[in-house]
Amino acid sequence: ETVGAMLDRIAARWPDRPALVVRQQGIRWTYAAFHAEVERVAAGLLALGLEPGDRVGIWAPNRAEWVVAQFAAPKAGLILVNINPAYRSHELAYSLNKVACRALILPRAFKSSRYLEILSGLAPELATSVPGGLRAAALPDLRHVILLDDEPAAGTRRWADIVADTEARARLAAIETELSFDDPVNIQFTSGTTGAPKGATLTHHNILNNGFFIGEAMRLTEEDRLCIPVPFYHCFGMVLGNLACVTHGACMVIPGEGFDALATLEAVAEERCTGLHGVPTMFIAELEHPRFHEFDLTSLRTGIMAGSPCPIEIMRRVVRDMHMAEVTIAYGMTETSPVSFQTVAEDPLELRVSTVGRVHPHVEVKVVDEAGRVVPRGQTGELLTRGYSVMRGYWGDDANTRAALDEARWMHTGDLATIDDAGYCTIVGRLKDMIIRGGENIYPREIEEFLYGHPDIQDVQVFGVPDERLGEQVCAWIRLRDGSSVSAAAIQDYCRRHLAYFKVPHYVRFVDAFPMTVTGKVQKYLMREAMLAALA
Ligand code: ATP
Ligand code: MG
Repeated sequence: ETVGAMLDRIAARWPDRPALVVRQQGIRWTYAAFHAEVERVAAGLLALGLEPGDRVGIWAPNRAEWVVAQFAAPKAGLILVNINPAYRSHELAYSLNKVACRALILPRAFKSSRYLEILSGLAPELATSVPGGLRAAALPDLRHVILLDDEPAAGTRRWADIVADTEARARLAAIETELSFDDPVNIQFTSGTTGAPKGATLTHHNILNNGFFIGEAMRLTEEDRLCIPVPFYHCFGMVLGNLACVTHGACMVIPGEGFDALATLEAVAEERCTGLHGVPTMFIAELEHPRFHEFDLTSLRTGIMAGSPCPIEIMRRVVRDMHMAEVTIAYGMTETSPVSFQTVAEDPLELRVSTVGRVHPHVEVKVVDEAGRVVPRGQTGELLTRGYSVMRGYWGDDANTRAALDEARWMHTGDLATIDDAGYCTIVGRLKDMIIRGGENIYPREIEEFLYGHPDIQDVQVFGVPDERLGEQVCAWIRLRDGSSVSAAAIQDYCRRHLAYFKVPHYVRFVDAFPMTVTGKVQKYLMREAMLAALA
């Protein structure tokens, strides 16, 4: 099945059920209304002259049009390219050119950035509207700019004006019958946690099936209403959120354009949401919000925490204080559509808060040592995954593709994992983040988990800093709770009492915030660079 065919089937089955609520835009669509809008835009994009296989970029925060584009592009055989809302001109030009985007969908502005101005800077022809389309030197492949605002701007088309004439509708129908589930449907960029983001090419088969299995693990039905505060541009929003919902006829509830703890709590309470997604830092922000106790969250049942290590203490509070008795942890990566492990409601709570569960249906996994040999159960090594969910490759980047995917099509995740006898997997950390101090392997996560238990600590990140004598030294960046004050020496003493001496952070720094990606992931490489600069 293709993404479009799936939506046709779901909309025919539940035309009157709610499909999409976008609070900041006042949108409440049933599946019939959502489907009609998707069809209009799919045909409208073809009417612009776009051809199947063409890349269409979307550079926008979480809005209704994003969800429509996510389903309209696949229907028309176009490949949607997710562009990070935090990008500025340099990164924008890089990603548009990397995949030769023909069209770009964007709002005039988001947060403090003027998107249209940034784009006009790259394509001066925009302002004068060149007949026959754009041909900007900086963006040689771009032909169409679609603006998500009502005010017109020279050289652009308004989203509302994308018209589906009879001819385009006929072409759409013809194209849909020829599409294969194996066709690429999406280029998703990785988070950029460890360096420059890479664009993974994913097919209908990849993401549609993954979205379905994720929804199954959450026991989603057409009765569910899932609050999605995670960005659509990333697989967490578009697959774990939108696709998991639509494959089950559930309703997507969008609390705002970007993440805001208060708006999320309000949306859950007012829309009586049954599920809530988030990376750990989002759940922490919600739980720590001064108005947290004002909200009735009793409608919650499920949701996913994923994206980075999920602190056990936070998982417990989510179950207890947010009523998410069936909350699941998922582990995955953009390159594998993304999820390959997930806990399910039936798993014992202890395992549900401390592991990423067992392997997803139809995914193969193994854990190997440096020489590529499978390690005995219970031992740590690099996690490799294989199966329907593995990407085609990185778009236009054979060198990185070859480094990630071996000849037998195993995806080398770059993550260290342990799988126990019952199949439960624990993510130990990233291979790149492992600290080697005086020949001793240290996993930052173990120290982080320990420090989360300290009453004054709200959030903590541990990483290695190069050291002449020992190779690396352990460094901890700590965010204290409001009103707490504790010294670095006291933290080190506390660690010394409970941890082996080599794990005790040599450097302790108190900070107000960590450098983060738009997906809410902490960028340790930037923290390492900051420490290096400070120590130099
Ligand atoms: P980049 O590849 O650009 O450096 P990234 O790896 O963060 O960024 P994503 O594809 O968004 O990009 O994230 C996948 C990674 O996130 C995994 O490889 C893993 O390190 C981490 N991750 C995801 N889920 C979990 C989880 N439940 N527990 C621990 N780590 C997780
Ligand atoms: Mg990665």
